[in-house]
Amino acid sequence: MKFDSVVLGGGIVGVSVALQLQRRGLSVALVDRRAPGNETSHGNGGLIQREGVYPYAFPRDLATLLRYAGNRSTDVRYHPGAMPHLLPFLYRYWHHSRADRHAAIARAYATLIEHCVIEHRALIEAAGAQALLRTNGWMKVFRSARAMDATVAEAQRWRREYGVGHEALDAQALRAAEPALGHALVGGVRYTDSDSVSDPNGLVTAYAKLFERLGGRVLMGDAATLEPSWRVMTQDGPVTAQSAVIAMGPWSGDLTARLGYDLPLAVKRGYHMHYAALNGAKLSQPVLDAEVGFLITPMARGIRLTTGVELGFRDTAKTPVQLEAVEPLARGIFPLGERVDAEPWLGRRPCTPDMKPVIGPAPKHDGLWFAFGHAHHGLTLGPVTGRLIAEMMTGAPTVVDPRPFRADRF
Ligand SMILES: Cc1cc2nc3c(=O)[nH]c(=O)nc-3n(C[C@H](O)[C@H](O)[C@H](O)COP(=O)(O)OP(=O)(O)OC[C@H]3O[C@@H](n4cnc5c(N)ncnc54)[C@H](O)[C@@H]3O)c2cc1C
Repeated sequence: MKFDSVVLGGGIVGVSVALQLQRRGLSVALVDRRAPGNETSHGNGGLIQREGVYPYAFPRDLATLLRYAGNRSTDVRYHPGAMPHLLPFLYRYWHHSRADRHAAIARAYATLIEHCVIEHRALIEAAGAQALLRTNGWMKVFRSARAMDATVAEAQRWRREYGVGHEALDAQALRAAEPALGHALVGGVRYTDSDSVSDPNGLVTAYAKLFERLGGRVLMGDAATLEPSWRVMTQDGPVTAQSAVIAMGPWSGDLTARLGYDLPLAVKRGYHMHYAALNGAKLSQPVLDAEVGFLITPMARGIRLTTGVELGFRDTAKTPVQLEAVEPLARGIFPLGERVDAEPWLGRRPCTPDMKPVIGPAPKHDGLWFAFGHAHHGLTLGPVTGRLIAEMMTGAPTVVDPRPFRADRF
């Protein structure tokens, strides 16, 4: 089977890349070891974060660092045994998180974020997936006025710097917006320009079906069989293509290392669980308990609770202690019923130390391209990443300046 391009990895990023290449007239095969959208892009919080202009930084203040070092906080935990291996990465992450460096990173990052809602809505329309889309933003809620004031100040700064919209809700307005939320909350900040989806896996599946309807091929295969310029084995036989795109999320580094690249990649693990809602309680938008560090969001399968960050090896067994710790606190703000899933889902956010994804040509190989490392914002940035890389690959003018995202910055 011969194609112009083969995309390796069928998460939100790979499927978006495949669609955007196809849109520009290329014949494209999408290769994954499973059906598209069943890994990280399946279990996330479903947020399309137009407000996410500042990627999540490493804390720099001593109080927060000491709190995390104790390894008992609900939002961030770590596996002590993995720390010696992770320290070089974390040091670089800490370095890039200094306020001035973080601000410079945000200036580049915001150029991508700016397009996230527009690009998703265009694909959602083309894929006929409108039923999955909510356009009513998402919300952080607060247990203390101090935390709320800090977030309001931050949101005001984001508006000044990047024109991102928000509204601050006092306790009464919060109850009017979400009557099922607990009375202990002092208020919320709603990000009004952001979208969310009720089934991230359903969304990626809808995009993949659109790709197939337009003539693309989705094939099962192991990207580890990739041989330069460019051939990969699938269940239907070998695929050859003039170009290959590595879009394997947290597994991308396995293949890039084999091809001779030493990229600083790591993962932030996170869990989810679904719950029934008691007494028909409803949530109309995703809600983040900002002080405890969990998100509850209405999904097709129930109320999905996603946890914060667990630092550890990608492939070690699940340790869902954060889920156990936040579940009673979540029940305190929303009437969660029984667990719906047999066991917690574990996902891995694919991260770089400078918080920017890797999007662009592979420095040492002709016809090889990288699209990974989207960390907390892969669902958000999948479609604009697809557009940017397809424009670069076809020599078209690009939607944003691609230079900050090139692999050769490392
Ligand atoms: C708890 C949690 C909550 C999150 N919430 C949000 C959110 O609300 N909004 C947001 O924007 N982002 C969120 N994220 C981040 C987001 O989910 C990820 O950044 C995004 O899914 C990454 O997409 P991807 O396509 O790069 O990777 P993936 O979705 O992991 O896709 C990679 C694909 O590569 C395939 N693959 C791997 N190895 C091979 C191989 N050898 N051969 C063939 N195929 C292979 C896999 O099967 C997989 O389908 C969250 C993440 C977590 C963990």
